[in-house]
Amino acid sequence: MKKYQSYTLLNYRKIPQCSRLSKDHIEALETVGRVLPFKTNNYVTDELINWDKVPDDPMFTLNFPRREMLVPEYYEALRSVIEKNDDRATEETIERIRMALNPNPSGQEHNVPEMNGIKLDGLQHKYRETVLLFPRHGQTCHAYCTFCFRWPQFSNLKNKKFSMRQNMNAYLTYIKAHPKVTDVLLTGGDPMTMTAGLLREYIEPLLKPDMRQIRNIRIGTKALAYWPYRFTTDKDADEILRLFDEVARVGKHLAIMGHFNHPAELLTESVKNAIQRIRNTGTQIRTQSPLLKHINDNPDVWAEMWKTQVSLGCIPYYMFVARDTGAKHFFEIPLALGQRIFRKAYQKVSGICRTVRGPSMSAHAGKIQILGVGEAEGKVFVMRFLQGRNPDWVGRPFFAKYDPKATWFDQLHPAFGEKEFFFESELNDYLRETLERHREF
Ligand SMILES: *Cc1c(COP(=O)(O)O)cnc(C)c1O
Ligand code: SF4
Repeated sequence: MKKYQSYTLLNYRKIPQCSRLSKDHIEALETVGRVLPFKTNNYVTDELINWDKVPDDPMFTLNFPRREMLVPEYYEALRSVIEKNDDRATEETIERIRMALNPNPSGQEHNVPEMNGIKLDGLQHKYRETVLLFPRHGQTCHAYCTFCFRWPQFSNLKNKKFSMRQNMNAYLTYIKAHPKVTDVLLTGGDPMTMTAGLLREYIEPLLKPDMRQIRNIRIGTKALAYWPYRFTTDKDADEILRLFDEVARVGKHLAIMGHFNHPAELLTESVKNAIQRIRNTGTQIRTQSPLLKHINDNPDVWAEMWKTQVSLGCIPYYMFVARDTGAKHFFEIPLALGQRIFRKAYQKVSGICRTVRGPSMSAHAGKIQILGVGEAEGKVFVMRFLQGRNPDWVGRPFFAKYDPKATWFDQLHPAFGEKEFFFESELNDYLRETLERHREF
């Protein structure tokens, strides 16, 4: 049994391989790590990171803040207050930089519903069929990704935290009042940081006869990549698998939405065992990842990842475009390049891996997939919604002017001289309405 040992800024010097970091790496870690949350663990440091390749090793870059993750202006500003030992100025500078890093991208607050005059923090309902639940005890992870768009969840930023304040009954009442909801997705942070007992408190009520409407329960997690022992040798691993068994037994589908960024995360005996044990319960594992410079910006890496996942019995699901937040400038890839990487990877694999869809942006309006680049009165991006705030938007091809540099949907403009995209005025009405409602709280 492997004992979980986490490392943060307070104790990272205990990482055995830490002596292999140069003075510059350490300075970067202690500087950038003040702004973006830093946490790793002994599985990541012992089994995933190739220390001979540091700092360019993708698993290192995924967990360890590097100097380039802050733009030089911010990095130098922070260095200078730290070196002056001015604690107050340091805290102020950290706060100022954080606020400039777009802590809450894509208007997630618009997805938080209300019921009987109470705002249901900890629930997001953006797409008709699916609600996201943010269990209060699952708002951390076994390690933190340097690109994470949920980073404010871990940084104690005021009012930037989604987490369940009311008890589960309020959420169940909300779901019952929305009979079209068929899916509950537990997310975080990482719900698999909770004990089996806590996880049961969220899942068991969904198995009761009065929750017949719920067909699919999903758990978004990176535990398979960051701490696979959660499903193998942890004290309550068997209890977790029993809970998974129960879901299948009442005839519902349990899906682990497994977050994997690189094939290296699929190679250890521990992750293979964990996947096998989960699959033995009848639970399906679907996989997803953003496309990230310095981590996986290469079609061969994706093709390898999808093939390995399928060999292990997992189903490739989404390739995302990294959101505009935190260290975005370090990880970002233009949409045009992202689509080429997707297409080249997709061409390298057999149909059995082509369950994956992408590259997809989770924008205000919905999940927008770049299908490709076409020629019609000049170059255009062809896109479609994979999910929309209005389900009626889904699946209709639409077009934007080609822009080789654009990295997010808000930088695109409609093609063919149109003033706006077909859904835009409806979306603006919707956003205005939720803003007004939220102002009442
Ligand atoms: C991605 C996402 C979902 C799930 O979408 P699927 O396409 O069903 O996987 C649900 N809610 C939100 C807010 C999402 O971003
Ligand atoms: S596992 Fe997910 S929520 Fe946790 S740090 Fe990584 S990206 Fe963020």
